[in-house]
Amino acid sequence: MVSIEEVAARNGFVLYPTSRPGQWKAHCPVCGDKGRDFHLYVSSVKDTFYCHKCGEKGGAVAFHAWLRGISFEAAKAEMYPQGTRKQNLHPAERLTAVQLAELGFTTHKPWRTPKGVNPWEWRRHRKAMLDWVWEEWQEYERFKREQTERLMCLLAPEEPTTTQVSV
Ligand SMILES: [Zn+2]
Repeated sequence: MVSIEEVAARNGFVLYPTSRPGQWKAHCPVCGDKGRDFHLYVSSVKDTFYCHKCGEKGGAVAFHAWLRGISFEAAKAEMYPQGTRKQNLHPAERLTAVQLAELGFTTHKPWRTPKGVNPWEWRRHRKAMLDWVWEEWQEYERFKREQTERLMCLLAPEEPTTTQVSV
């Protein structure tokens, strides 16, 4: 089981201790809490979260889904990877590092949440970026196909009809 504390850590979500052990407070990403405003409460005893302002609540999987902006099913698949996991991925996420390098992304998978970035804000950019990468990839595939076809034409022996015409 992945604990709710672990979910917070994986998403770079900061939990602040309260006077009660196992109870944490945090800034709600939806309500935009700042400074001493803490509407979100997380219990590592019950593995639950609850925002007193927007009313968002649930367990560890729901928390992960909420922070990542993905469906409950997708969150579950991410937390407990199985054979079905790939079905929830954006097609661009299935591209290998080598394929990405061909497109010019040489450092890392560009949709990983960068450190220090609010995951809530990040997810808005993520989808657009994945769509863009996927479009680029399809375009690149088309280009490669055309190049191959052109090459095949150049290498292909002359057609008998062509010979007849030139004679
Ligand atoms: Zn809230």
